[in-house]
Amino acid sequence: MTCSHDADVIVVGAGPAGSSAAYYCAREGLDVILLEKNDLGRGKICGDGLTPSAVRELITLGIDTSTWRRNKGLRVVGAGHTVELPWPEQSHLPGYGMARARTKLDKDLALYAQQAGARLMTGVTVTAPITSAAGRVTGVETKPTARVAEPAISQPTSFTAPIVIDAGGVAARLATAVGRAKNDKRPMGVAVRAYFESPLANDEWMESQLELWDGPREKGTLLPGYGWIWSVGNGLVNVGLGSVSSTAHAAKIDYKKIFTTWIANTPEEWGLNPDTQVGDLRSAALPMAFNRQPHYADGLFLLGDAGGMISPFNGEGIAQALMSGRLAAEAILQARARATETGRELALQAYPAALKADMGGYYTLGRVFVSLIEHPEVMRLCTRYGLPRKRLMTFVHKLLSDSWPRQGGDATDHLIQILSRMVPSA
Ligand SMILES: Cc1cc2nc3c(=O)[nH]c(=O)nc-3n(C[C@H](O)[C@H](O)[C@H](O)COP(=O)(O)OP(=O)(O)OC[C@H]3O[C@@H](n4cnc5c(N)ncnc54)[C@H](O)[C@@H]3O)c2cc1C
Repeated sequence: MTCSHDADVIVVGAGPAGSSAAYYCAREGLDVILLEKNDLGRGKICGDGLTPSAVRELITLGIDTSTWRRNKGLRVVGAGHTVELPWPEQSHLPGYGMARARTKLDKDLALYAQQAGARLMTGVTVTAPITSAAGRVTGVETKPTARVAEPAISQPTSFTAPIVIDAGGVAARLATAVGRAKNDKRPMGVAVRAYFESPLANDEWMESQLELWDGPREKGTLLPGYGWIWSVGNGLVNVGLGSVSSTAHAAKIDYKKIFTTWIANTPEEWGLNPDTQVGDLRSAALPMAFNRQPHYADGLFLLGDAGGMISPFNGEGIAQALMSGRLAAEAILQARARATETGRELALQAYPAALKADMGGYYTLGRVFVSLIEHPEVMRLCTRYGLPRKRLMTFVHKLLSDSWPRQGGDATDHLIQILSRMVPSA
């Protein structure tokens, strides 16, 4: 079968960001090539947690989530307190979250984009951008991925399009190649996770542990970071821990060692031990607070992790990845209908503007938040005195899980709206 190597849009990476953009563009009739270096169904290093914001994006995409594992809120544990915070039912957000293993989520999304007409090619590694003499990105160079048994192409191949999207995750290979370096003054997280068979798989809450001890509580040493445990269904829980630093120059910490120590000290009835662990313990970086910009210039869009879109408040990035795909497609579709080059570029610039309008001020607040909680003693104080205060926790819950509406809402929502408008956009 022959296939054209030219398209309207090339999308690099079939994660949530890339598949979302590919779906929305293909659905409206654009010729989209979606290039993914791995086979579908390959695991991702992720907590697999989907907050109501992510659920909203999935609903907007039209994905059928009726059989997916749902949860009803966050259980926050720290300083001797346990607080359950249900996801609030709101006009703009559903009152439930979900969890879905990335082996399934990413495959669902990539196939969904393909069904809408995107030309999905797996086992294809994008190696470099193709640029014009004027510095505009006009395509990509690729090669078959060595470890993939049946790559969609068998030899190095060039693909061209007037619009290229880097949705290749934290590596952001295209962005890096054109000199869009990450801003080292923006927060960066690191997290590790593993799956376990556990009775906790029946739990309906997503649990966050704000303190990690290397022994019995208050008797051992407090370890840096925060932990999570939640069900992904089928008797499995995703267990992880992460920490965040206000700059990219984080202290070198052996997170895998901390994880092992923490797990060894969890209650026996949780059943978290080497015998119940399923698969490897794996770690990855979390690029946060728009640490790579501009999100659009010279024909190249940055989406999701490639644009550093993970929330500095909670380490969540799937909702933002899906949203960035939607917003990028909106700008691309508007540009298609413009008659002049100037008009097209103006329409494409709507994408970074929309991101800033939605998340800019919020992420500036997030940077302040990280600079506070990266000090364990501040975190400790907040946990000890904040957790028992219900009104304060309602505010914190909405702020941290990005479940505040951008307009309207209640007094808590208004306060967050005012705060995020008072600061410069990230
Ligand atoms: C330990 C950990 C836990 C996390 N937990 C959560 C959580 O519970 N909830 C949440 O919302 N977020 C979580 N995140 C963040 C979340 O995983 C990311 O924000 C999200 O995956 C970003 O989606 P993306 O589409 O931008 O990038 P990715 O999901 O990384 O997708 C990028 C895709 O591009 C492909 N690719 C990369 N390079 C190339 C190339 N050169 N050529 C072709 N294809 C390429 C990759 O194979 C991949 O499929 C966590 C992150 C970590 C590290």
